[in-house]
Amino acid sequence: MAERPRTYTAEGVILRRRNIGEADSIFTVYSDREGKFDAVARGVRKTRSKMRGHLEPLTRSRFLIAKGRSLDVFAQAETVHHYRAVREDLDRAATAVYCAELVDRFTAERAPQEGLYSLLLGILDALEDGCGITVARYFEVQLLALSGYDLALDACALCTTPLAAEDTLLSPSAGGLVCRLCRPQAEGGRILGVRAVKVLRYARRATLDAFAALNLDPDLDAELRTALALVIRHTLERDLAATRFLEDVRRLPGPHPAPSPDGRVE
Ligand SMILES: [Zn+2]
Repeated sequence: MAERPRTYTAEGVILRRRNIGEADSIFTVYSDREGKFDAVARGVRKTRSKMRGHLEPLTRSRFLIAKGRSLDVFAQAETVHHYRAVREDLDRAATAVYCAELVDRFTAERAPQEGLYSLLLGILDALEDGCGITVARYFEVQLLALSGYDLALDACALCTTPLAAEDTLLSPSAGGLVCRLCRPQAEGGRILGVRAVKVLRYARRATLDAFAALNLDPDLDAELRTALALVIRHTLERDLAATRFLEDVRRLPGPHPAPSPDGRVE
């Protein structure tokens, strides 16, 4: 049997860093082919480290990585884009960090999601080119869709009746917009004004460039930001609950019981 290669290459964006020991750091990367992964950079906090500048959070870099027993190790790193303009502007830097954090929280290790890497690069490039920070709304809507939580925006999430362009409830638990008749069945959410409804639909189908050209006014952006934050929190909590459930099952002794369709263990 052929021996498995000991190194691999990847291109990705550094999502976050945590320091270990005297001079090492572990970096979480989202990459095109590998998806999310962690690797350690030895001695990267020493001033003479050659890799230091290529491994800063939000940097897009190419890596050569050596497989380790527990953690992979960066052997080489080379910057593709440093996103200097993003770093030098507080609002844009905060928006980029927020998007990187969402990628981290919505992904599992070594499970690349189709389209997500180019969405992340698209948002970083847009911010670098001076687009307004309201492009984060586009990122949220597209990230939800790529992660399997595509919001129902044209038809009621509960009864599938086509929706008119009017003030409409966005319900996190229903997974999208909900018609007036179904409102009592939707557990919570926020009523969006008709302009916000139209922008949400546009965010779902437009290109990033087209959406960036909208340049949302601050009130409209705040309305959407608040509503989408509810959806994101609901989605992540449900995911966390599912993860905890799986971990509980793994801890059970003996043969693992299969979960019943409603998620309970018999
Ligand atoms: Zn309905």
